[in-house]
Amino acid sequence: MPVADLQLVCDFVNSADLEEPRDALADGRSLVRWLSAHGLSGEHARATDADAAEARALREALRELMVINNGARGDRAAAVETLDAAGRRAGLAARFDSGAIRLVPGARGVRGALGVVLGAAGEAMADGSWTQAKACRSDTCRWAFVDRSRNRSRQWCSMSVCGNRAKARTYRERHA
Ligand SMILES: [Zn+2]
Repeated sequence: MPVADLQLVCDFVNSADLEEPRDALADGRSLVRWLSAHGLSGEHARATDADAAEARALREALRELMVINNGARGDRAAAVETLDAAGRRAGLAARFDSGAIRLVPGARGVRGALGVVLGAAGEAMADGSWTQAKACRSDTCRWAFVDRSRNRSRQWCSMSVCGNRAKARTYRERHA
């Protein structure tokens, strides 16, 4: 799996900043803006607020799996159910491409565009690189990142932000 594709999935998850809070998929219009900024749909694609709600559900299901990838607890069954439903809406189909499986959306429009993101996640699951997609261990942050550390032990979005905050908390608790 090219890192760029896994990064796309992380960018999608990071379309909401939980600490701001800011949500780039708040409604149909902003969903189209996000997809077109990432080269996944035209600027004039149509999306309803219901499409945006589906996109947000897909995003949070992907985030949940990234939380689990980071060794924290999460509801895997509910998350994969959401992914299955999104895959059906996108008409995601397997293509056998020189020894690798590609997941290609059959649906057009925003559902197909979301299928590209979901397909990238599915291909990463198939080739094993998915475990590198993690959400920050901080419950209030949960920022998605690709763990490229040698032993795949990275837990925080940024050591200088969440990592140090967690360290300071542990220090305070120990010395309280
Ligand atoms: Zn963080």
